[in-house]
Amino acid sequence: MIDWSFNPLLALVVGLVVAEAGIFATTVYLHRGLTHRALTVHPALALPLRIFLWMATGMRPREWAAVHRRHHAATDTVDDPHSPAILGFWRVQLANAALYRRIARDGETVTKYAKDLPPDRLDRWFFDHAFLGLGIGVTLVCLVLGPLTGLLASVIHAVGYLGLSGAVNAVGHTVGKRPHENSATNTNALALITAGEGLHNNHHAEPTSARFAFRWQEIDPGWWVVRVLGLLRLAQVRHEDGRLRADRPTASSSTRTGAVSAR
Ligand SMILES: [Zn+2]
Ligand SMILES: [Zn+2]
Repeated sequence: MIDWSFNPLLALVVGLVVAEAGIFATTVYLHRGLTHRALTVHPALALPLRIFLWMATGMRPREWAAVHRRHHAATDTVDDPHSPAILGFWRVQLANAALYRRIARDGETVTKYAKDLPPDRLDRWFFDHAFLGLGIGVTLVCLVLGPLTGLLASVIHAVGYLGLSGAVNAVGHTVGKRPHENSATNTNALALITAGEGLHNNHHAEPTSARFAFRWQEIDPGWWVVRVLGLLRLAQVRHEDGRLRADRPTASSSTRTGAVSAR
């Protein structure tokens, strides 16, 4: 029996919770883990995260990693896939996913920047098929909440996830503090709702640090999750050097950024 009742408040809560879960999975697993190798995620957790990201975002991890490594290697130049300084703030904020997709399918970015992340059998069978994953995700939500509430929750999730991801790249290179010598910015309010990604200036200064907060007043919820996963032995931090380097001169940091992150 299909539940045709409509509960917009429930849709709002579920949509926002799933969007935030996607943001946490993106920063911990895709960004700090796969892309920068700042931490290693245990296979017992990596597989459910791959399945969740497939159903919630449809993204291919190796493509996300390649586009993001290219962003670090060519920050705010014409080769940057999503620079608000080059493409304009609103194009990056609103069309972030389209920019990712276009660069990821250009035939060279993934080959050059994601050599270490070749597709495995699960990718070929399941995870490379974005619409299959998204379709399963939306269907599951509709089965649990009913089709009307489920569809609204899916739309709220998509708007929330895409909006927050776009803000990291648009706001995170436009508005906020620049304690280190790079073009990215730190914004605590953005960091609070993006699992720490809003500390983007810190991140560009130390791309291989699993911790994005370098000072006591900076908020990095993604790091709190990493710490808990570490205690549960589901993640192992490889580099956590932000606090040690927070007060060091920044010229060497910005020089190091390109070399390390463009691996
Ligand atoms: Zn950036
Ligand atoms: Zn990064």
